[in-house]
Amino acid sequence: MDAARTITDDESAAAGTAAAAAGPGDEARVTPMMEQYIEIKTANPDCLLFYRMGDFYELFFDDAEVASRALGIMLTKRGKHLGRDIPMCGVPIERADEYLHRLIALGHRVAVCEQLEDPAQARKRGSKSVVRRDVVRLVTPGTLTEDSLLDAKRNNYLLALARSRVSAGEDRFALAWIDISTGEFHVAEADRAALAAAVARIEPGEIIVSDAVYADAELAPVLRALPALTPLGRDVFDGATAERRLAAFFGVATTASFGAFSRLELTAAAAAVTYVERTQIGKRPPLSAPARERAGATLAIDQATRGNLELIRTLSGERRGSLLAAIDRTVTAAGSRLLAQRLAAPLTDPAEIGHRLDAVAVFVDDPGLRNGVRSLLKASPDLLRALSRIVVGRGGPRDLAAIRDGIYAAAELAAKLAASPQLPRDLADAVGALRRPDAKLAEDLRAALADELPALRRDGGFVRPGYEAALDEARALRDESRRVIAALQVRYAEATGVRALKVRHNNVLGYFVDVSAQHGDKLLSAPHSATFIHRQTTAGQVRFTTTELGALEAKIATAAERALALELEIFERLAAAVAAASLALKQAANAVALLDVAGALAALAAERDYTRPLIDDSLAFAVSGGRHPVVEQALAAGGGGPFVANDCDLSPPARQAGGPPTDAGRIWLVTGPNMAGKSTFLRQNALIAVLAQMGGYVPARAAHIGVVDRLFSRVGAADDLARGHSTFMVEMVETAAILNQAGVRALVILDEIGRGTATYDGLSIAWATIEHLHEANRCRALFATHFHEMTALAAKLPRLHNATMRVKEWQGDVVFLHEVIAGAADRSYGIQVAKLAGLPASVIERAKVVLAQIEAEDRVSPARTLIDDLPLFSAATRAAPPPARDDPRDAVIAALAALTPDEMSPRDALEALYALKERLTKPGAV
Ligand code: ADP
Ligand code: MG
Repeated sequence: MDAARTITDDESAAAGTAAAAAGPGDEARVTPMMEQYIEIKTANPDCLLFYRMGDFYELFFDDAEVASRALGIMLTKRGKHLGRDIPMCGVPIERADEYLHRLIALGHRVAVCEQLEDPAQARKRGSKSVVRRDVVRLVTPGTLTEDSLLDAKRNNYLLALARSRVSAGEDRFALAWIDISTGEFHVAEADRAALAAAVARIEPGEIIVSDAVYADAELAPVLRALPALTPLGRDVFDGATAERRLAAFFGVATTASFGAFSRLELTAAAAAVTYVERTQIGKRPPLSAPARERAGATLAIDQATRGNLELIRTLSGERRGSLLAAIDRTVTAAGSRLLAQRLAAPLTDPAEIGHRLDAVAVFVDDPGLRNGVRSLLKASPDLLRALSRIVVGRGGPRDLAAIRDGIYAAAELAAKLAASPQLPRDLADAVGALRRPDAKLAEDLRAALADELPALRRDGGFVRPGYEAALDEARALRDESRRVIAALQVRYAEATGVRALKVRHNNVLGYFVDVSAQHGDKLLSAPHSATFIHRQTTAGQVRFTTTELGALEAKIATAAERALALELEIFERLAAAVAAASLALKQAANAVALLDVAGALAALAAERDYTRPLIDDSLAFAVSGGRHPVVEQALAAGGGGPFVANDCDLSPPARQAGGPPTDAGRIWLVTGPNMAGKSTFLRQNALIAVLAQMGGYVPARAAHIGVVDRLFSRVGAADDLARGHSTFMVEMVETAAILNQAGVRALVILDEIGRGTATYDGLSIAWATIEHLHEANRCRALFATHFHEMTALAAKLPRLHNATMRVKEWQGDVVFLHEVIAGAADRSYGIQVAKLAGLPASVIERAKVVLAQIEAEDRVSPARTLIDDLPLFSAATRAAPPPARDDPRDAVIAALAALTPDEMSPRDALEALYALKERLTKPGAV
């Protein structure tokens, strides 16, 4: 690899070969190049330094060792430093993106150091002078702009987290997050309890915090699990200078026009832009003004719930199989990113959700418009990322073409939409935004850009012939000289009689006359030796130059250089025009994304028969004919049976018409054997809430949802000792979080909580958890369990509803109907399920005998005694909000429904009767 590098002579000398050749007394001498290297490296100690030398980025010392290991590239040596070999490895510039990508993915940061002048300029200052170099950019996980380093379908956020101590033990946090590749910039506040969920929703590529926050042991559990956490000095998080820094970044006198921010929010926002400036070395990406998000504006979903519901990716980390993958029908990268954003942060304001749904409805109702808009969208490029690259000086000719095509596509979309009458708010706004970019800019780009475009500016050839006379002239000169060289070859071959004589070109010799060794002598002797000047003899070839060839070469080089310089000038001019139009272009691009999302959700609704949900401020949760959006599609794709739709009603019982929504929601306790569809049912209802509040149609016949403010979903798990930790502990920590945080507007999904421990422990925990949800949290909840003893709780808890999965027994086998019906499972069918799974017949038979025995013994002490003997949840009831003003008759009816007379002893039955009667006469009694 080394031999292929074209390093100019002065550079390789400076790099240490001179030092190596020097006497032992000079060992401690530091070469001028090493001096420069060390100075730049010292200024960027936490980065791997990519030091540009000719066509390579070189890494030295420890950096070289780290990078060669990480990238699997060869580690070599170059000269000595203080008597020791200098380890070195290199990355060719044309493959730099690929290597950068791998280093960033491994959590490294890279400082890219470029040559800031031509080596020839350096030589003019003296033979020992080193080419001027400096770092032009820090590449970190949260500040990427290249398509090759980014996922087109996802945002890549840099998150700044600022903290202030309100009082001892009470912290406030502000979050500011920026995607420099698209210009998005958001700010929000959060308290300690909401912090983890807020960070989980943003899913930042990189987080910056102050040294103090970084060192805070209390925050460590939240922060340390996150990728790329960078601590920064106090100056970056200084509240006193925050507003000034933010205003300076945007070139405004005051940030007042951005809206009212708290000092803490300004601190976080200023830290984020300061970091952007530091990494982009003064280049300012086209950021939008920070948009403040009201606390509570989005549905809070913590990390465990996101993972559990597989919203954005599955538990194994893949996009495939997630809700996002199942619903994504977008056709543009920007649309795909917006859809992921909306899914990650559903709204809580029914009016805002309504606006989004109105836009979807237009496209559901008018398939012709939907198809027309979507086919135009397909031709619409990723404007935002092209724009960002152009503004920070990393754009290429194809980015200019993307701007050109984006402007035309926006105008066509606007025209198409404007033709339909009565657009709802969001679509009307989008039409306005689509019309904002200046058509003249697109015209100018169209006139300037060639049909075929190279990836890089420095490749040249991207300006259309005829666009600029001076360029055409330089190109003609360059091309004409090339023709003259071809003619020269013919002339020389004739003059010398060597028919195989060729004029060739390489980077070392430039143009040269090339003949095979057998003809070499002929050209080396008179009369030809007067014309042909010997340059080189290789194994089979002899090479010459001529005065004429030298002159032509200089002319070609000058013309080509001039042509390229002119092209680069034109590029800069066009890039400046694009940058000046940033705001309009961004607005149009956002409108494109919005249209794409609305069209895609409508396409999904049409394809899969989704309906528009009714969303309001109530505590209703009534889904009829609900389906699981992912399982349904999987069944359809796999040729499985149809998905069985199910109803779910968690709305508060006996709501007073027109009264304030102070009542509490229902809890459904879902029992049924394994594989009956309990988990699927639970999750589908959570997903329907998420889809509805993100502004999408839902997989149901009808859905009425009173906005949910927090969503929790947990699954009980068996102990995973192989991984060295108790998942039961995790399960309990997560359950604790729910019981402590869920308010009346929450929706809680608990799936087999208590499974991870011994039966009676597990049952007790599940039991007490239900009581707490019912009495203290008072939220809407779905609870699946295989402890069918718990169904007895419905006798005591008026808002608890027993539901079970219908199964059919057929010739000793169990058939799952996947249908949710009212009532309680009386058996777990564990043995039948084991039989389905293929356990040996002898084991099945033996298990039946054991079960019969245990059931006979257990009859004397069923859970029913529990319900009568234990005072219900006395400790928590005291702390709980005032009891529900429910109609006692509802509770009695529910309790009655939960009784299973066939299984009760006469004594049990009598006691149950007393309990019912007492409930009717003393409604408050428990
Ligand atoms: P459980 O939690 O009761 O053990 P799951 O919810 O895991 O059961 O469901 C088991 C399997 O049954 C699922 O993988 C799915 O393929 C199928 N299933 C569940 N619900 C339905 C349904 N409503 N319609 C059709 N198939 C279903
Ligand atoms: Mg399950």
